[in-house]
Amino acid sequence: MYKFGYIDHLPTKPKVKMWFGFHLHETLKFILEDPYHLPTQTEAVRYYAEKFDKSVFNNDTILIQSYFENGLRIIESFYNQIKEKTPQVVTIEDKFVLPLGEHYVSGVFDRVDKVTDDNFEIIDYKTGKVPNQNDVDNNLQLTFYDWAARQKWPHLKDIKLTLHFLSPDVKLSTTRDESHHQIVKEKVYKTAEKIDKGKFEPTPGPLCNYCDFAEFCPIMKDKFRKEKGEIDTILNKFLKLKIKEAKIKNEIDSIKPHIHDYLDKEKVEQLFSDLGVLSRKISQIYEYDPNIIYEILKPKGKWLDVMKIDNSKLKKILAELNLESRELDKIKKAQKLVRERKDLRAKLKK
Ligand code: SF4
Repeated sequence: MYKFGYIDHLPTKPKVKMWFGFHLHETLKFILEDPYHLPTQTEAVRYYAEKFDKSVFNNDTILIQSYFENGLRIIESFYNQIKEKTPQVVTIEDKFVLPLGEHYVSGVFDRVDKVTDDNFEIIDYKTGKVPNQNDVDNNLQLTFYDWAARQKWPHLKDIKLTLHFLSPDVKLSTTRDESHHQIVKEKVYKTAEKIDKGKFEPTPGPLCNYCDFAEFCPIMKDKFRKEKGEIDTILNKFLKLKIKEAKIKNEIDSIKPHIHDYLDKEKVEQLFSDLGVLSRKISQIYEYDPNIIYEILKPKGKWLDVMKIDNSKLKKILAELNLESRELDKIKKAQKLVRERKDLRAKLKK
């Protein structure tokens, strides 16, 4: 996505949810821009209504009404809270740029409130679904804000990080420390490194179905192909065979217990028919205590011969450990491409 959006500058389509979020941010900014001279509620609602751009909604009157009314409820509830207890706002929609090595990272604080002289609250408005507290405690965006705020206001002792979900009106807060900053810095370094190297692997996921660049991306672009060709015949044949394969596998699995029962009962291990022979092979699978094997094989220099790195477990552990770049580099150098496998995976429609 990064390459298509920021390097190739491919256009994005206007998105209702995004526009709505932006419009709410603008209206909340209008309300709190000068906390000592708040606008009246009528002025706030007028601002919201006058700048509500119906053209974004593709003439869908039901959608327009539903978004407009939801926004109105949000603005009214927000206004009432602010009127009841006006916060000491330090800054609103404040852009920051931080140097990190030879790179710069930027972001925007939606709102920063002063709780006491050395305690600020950073508030980020959200219009999406409310997550659980664990997600908030691990939210990288908030870590990034904490890190940026401590650079910008070094005198601060405490920083409360809050995600304010506007609908329903829910606030979830958390805090961060230096160890969290390290994690985010490492992530920024790694991402910057990939960008520098022009390494842009597609990262398929649920967002692909909503992606503005889908028709240019190797993961999704075939969905937009108009001309039918030989490949469609081959593809359908492949998928039909896959469906058959799945059915046959199910049938075989359902027959297996009957065969095992017969073999056990008759105390035989092979069955003969005009079509062929069916043999049963019984193998015992053992597990060993790795500490004992290590103790015996290590001094004989044979421990590594029986070791096999489990790639998926290694990947998981590396992600959990948050190693330093120098350690990751070392691991990267220890990596050797043995072969490239190209698997075909079919996802069949139910
Ligand atoms: S289609 Fe998916 S993988 Fe491709 S750019 Fe979009 S989100 Fe990324």
